[in-house]
Amino acid sequence: MTQVLVGIGSNKNNPQHQIELAFTRISERFKDAKMSPLYLTQPVGGIPQASFINAAIMLDTQLSAREVLDILMDLEAQAHRKRANEIPNGPRNLDLDIILFGNVILTDPDLTIPHPRFRQRRFVLQPMCDLTPELIDPVSKNSISQLLDACTDENWVRPLESELLAL
Ligand code: ADP
Ligand code: MG
Repeated sequence: MTQVLVGIGSNKNNPQHQIELAFTRISERFKDAKMSPLYLTQPVGGIPQASFINAAIMLDTQLSAREVLDILMDLEAQAHRKRANEIPNGPRNLDLDIILFGNVILTDPDLTIPHPRFRQRRFVLQPMCDLTPELIDPVSKNSISQLLDACTDENWVRPLESELLAL
């Protein structure tokens, strides 16, 4: 079995529902899948757009990384994500990225593992750290909690629960 960390995000068409529905579908496929708490996060990349909801999902699988990617891309399509109409880093119904896949290191044109930008992104590291702070990034050899401590991303990442209580 390989332990997989998936990043999930949405800022369009009821983001919380998009994420909960995708997690339900992932749980049907991967029986022991776990999801972190949800976070409200500042969009990265400077495009004016709604805040995102982000989380991390941990699952175990016997499938290959490419087979898992195909399943995730299918789920994005089921959420009616239309890549052709999108601007990079722009709004999306559902984004599912493989962040870590066991100790696999892969740099194919259409699949890079570990995800190339995850160490710079607080909205990825914070929910991963909730699930598995001791997990080691096979490239930098740092744990997720070390990467989060070292992360200089100033975009805000706030627990969704506390945002709702403040309303
Ligand atoms: P991003 O998530 O970087 O904002 P997209 O979701 O639009 O961008 O990019 C999707 C494409 O990125 C997929 O078609 C896939 O082939 C490629 N890709 C490369 N590495 C990964 C990865 N680790 N996880 C998910 N998609 C990846
Ligand atoms: Mg993606």
